[in-house]
Amino acid sequence: MSENSGSSRSATGPGWWQVARHGMCPACNTPGMVWAGRAWEPPKLNDHCRACGEPLAVHEASGRALYPVVIPLVALLVFSALRVDDIWRLPLWVYPLVWGPASALIVGLAVRAVRAAVLAARVAPRGQG
Ligand SMILES: [Zn+2]
Repeated sequence: MSENSGSSRSATGPGWWQVARHGMCPACNTPGMVWAGRAWEPPKLNDHCRACGEPLAVHEASGRALYPVVIPLVALLVFSALRVDDIWRLPLWVYPLVWGPASALIVGLAVRAVRAAVLAARVAPRGQG
């Protein structure tokens, strides 16, 4: 129960999944310190960890660093939309209602995962004596 209380004695920080899902600071393991803004907004890192002061925003992956993930994902979404259209022939007004939010959600989750992975890889955990 106390494994995430900030007194972790492991030499490794949280994995990318814990950073992405719980916002655990890679330096101090405090949950809820990484993400700025609300859950439905595009994922953005806090400037600093409010618990330990570790600068986080300087490690934010953006621009070209996201291309290797976002471009194949968008291509996959386009091919998925075309395949769904081949199979079901839904009315045209359904597509923006389904693929708009679905695309924003999927790309947002992918960007969050990439930013968490980059942050977890770059920030070393702080030793506890
Ligand atoms: Zn921290």
